[in-house]
Amino acid sequence: MRTEQHRPLESALDTVRNLGILAHVDAGKTTVTERILYTTGTTHKRGEVHDGTTITDFDSQERDRGITIFAAAVSCSWAGHRVNLIDTPGHVDFADEVERALRVLDGAIAVFDAVAGVEPQSESVWRQADRHAVPRIAFVNKLDRAGADLDTAVASIRERLHTVPLVVQLPIGREDGFRGVVDLLRMRALVWADGGDTYEETDVPVELREEAGRRRRLLEEAVAELHPAALEEFCAGSGLAERTLAGALRDLTRTGEGVVVLCGSAYRNRGVEPLLEAVVAYLPSPADVPPVRGTWGGTEQERAADPAEPFAALAFKVNATATGRLTYLRVYSGTVGKGETVLDAGTGRGERVGRILRVQADRHVDVDSAVAGDIVAVIGPRTVRPGATLCAPGAPLVLEPPTVADPVVSVA
Ligand code: GDP
Repeated sequence: MRTEQHRPLESALDTVRNLGILAHVDAGKTTVTERILYTTGTTHKRGEVHDGTTITDFDSQERDRGITIFAAAVSCSWAGHRVNLIDTPGHVDFADEVERALRVLDGAIAVFDAVAGVEPQSESVWRQADRHAVPRIAFVNKLDRAGADLDTAVASIRERLHTVPLVVQLPIGREDGFRGVVDLLRMRALVWADGGDTYEETDVPVELREEAGRRRRLLEEAVAELHPAALEEFCAGSGLAERTLAGALRDLTRTGEGVVVLCGSAYRNRGVEPLLEAVVAYLPSPADVPPVRGTWGGTEQERAADPAEPFAALAFKVNATATGRLTYLRVYSGTVGKGETVLDAGTGRGERVGRILRVQADRHVDVDSAVAGDIVAVIGPRTVRPGATLCAPGAPLVLEPPTVADPVVSVA
């Protein structure tokens, strides 16, 4: 068992991304998750979905059924950022669980199949994410498949999700020959090594320059139409600088006015690094989202993502595991230390936080405390149910919106 010294997150709040992956079953959510864990060094072996070794599939029932039943939050590090991946079930039977996961996310990757495009379940999860105002980026996966076509998938995003796709990559090669992308912001080509995980960055191949230039202009036009500062620069002359474009894409992602679209093949581990770069560049940190609201005694309250505010957290998942009864928390404000007693605002019971764990793929790492913005699992609370608010006993509140209590899930 390792113990990580608590590092105050006050200054580091903007380096946290609480991220979910949303998808229709089979679009590749598990594979994308797996490749993110692998790419960030969280795991050292690539799990394969078909042989049942994927790390986020903790549960044998889940492995057997091949669908994600139990949400698990996994922490990984990427380029000086902590990315907390909150698993959201893709199966329609678990809509409540998706709903609860959506409450605790600050941003999400929506994964689509490059052959099927937007499917009915992707549509319904997209609407749920709209209701929770979760900023999203899109990843069009399986570009290596026969019949895969980025443009058709993008058209279905525009038509069925009623959003403005902002396509930032041009694929290099089609179907089985898919081998890289042109990054339309930097106008550089990223070409993956055959069968390898690394890519080489090169000039845009001569035969693709015209097409890449055309697509860059389309991207600039789409952005200028939505973003006043970009429009001003666009109208002033020679298009948008990379910096302006990146800043505008970040703003449009956060307001939900447009969705940045990337592509790749998760199975072949192509496109996952640029995807992580986009997560860091465009999706918000806990410091960027509005304060959370709650009520107590009929009075409304707001809590900012500040470690100095009174503690408030939402329990979004409870799993009985071999390690113990894990209550997954999203901490919205304040700090909680190991050994402290907090209040379950719903039951009025005091609950002791015996251990605080950060879940890293297949390991649990003990930490001394958790602060605003964190996603952790705690051991100690015995009766806390998913949807409950845990708070400082001296500053009670129930976080909104209240949810119906769900059964505790047992993991064999
Ligand atoms: P989930 O149901 O959304 O979690 O999807 P999975 O990650 O389980 O993937 C569904 C199937 O698609 C599996 O058989 C994967 O191996 C396969 N798959 C995932 N990503 C890709 C990809 O990039 N290309 C191809 N050809 N197959 C993929």
